[in-house]
Amino acid sequence: MTIHHHPSDELLLDYASGALGEAWSLAVATHLSLCPGCRSTIDHLEAIGAGLLDAADPAPLSDKTFELIMDRLENESEDLTDSAPPAPAVPVHPSANGLPQPLRRYAENDRGEIPWQRLGLGASQCLLTTSEDGVTARLLRIPAGRPVPEHTHGGLELTLVLSGAFSDSVGRYGAGDFQEADENLEHQPHAESGADCICLAVTDAPLRFKSLAARIVQPFLGI
Ligand SMILES: [Zn+2]
Repeated sequence: MTIHHHPSDELLLDYASGALGEAWSLAVATHLSLCPGCRSTIDHLEAIGAGLLDAADPAPLSDKTFELIMDRLENESEDLTDSAPPAPAVPVHPSANGLPQPLRRYAENDRGEIPWQRLGLGASQCLLTTSEDGVTARLLRIPAGRPVPEHTHGGLELTLVLSGAFSDSVGRYGAGDFQEADENLEHQPHAESGADCICLAVTDAPLRFKSLAARIVQPFLGI
């Protein structure tokens, strides 16, 4: 699996410091289970965080300190690419339906199946229960070769491709690729032909569809 799109450094830092809620963390953790590069970044962030804690400065983290951490991380990443061996792979045991380990207890029922709900137009979803109010995590299955109606975002949307692929105005996203979208991104993801595209999507506001038809059916689709 070659991954081209990764979570931002800011998101990884929030994850490493425990600042992310459960649903957002689930998206990052699932990406980490597929991406040795980001696991290595997290290891470094945690080591730097532990070093900062040892220095035990009671002052809150200033913007300046944040910048220093990010600079140091960047330098260490460059050093790493020269010398260090790749991080060992976390044991990942995909289930019969191919879900990465972090998702299984959220998405599979007692029989190890994903309880898909039909959304119409051939698409399906499986809502995931987390402790986080106001944030929705779901698996989405977009039929091969089909588009999702063009939309913008009322808030933040994290999307992680689990199988298949989609393309939009930003680029192509295949298995393991991670997209962070906010209200500035207007896009129309289009699933590639050949295989359905299954994604994990985490959102904190409903999508805003451009077309009237999509807006009319939105309440019935639950997205
Ligand atoms: Zn990554």
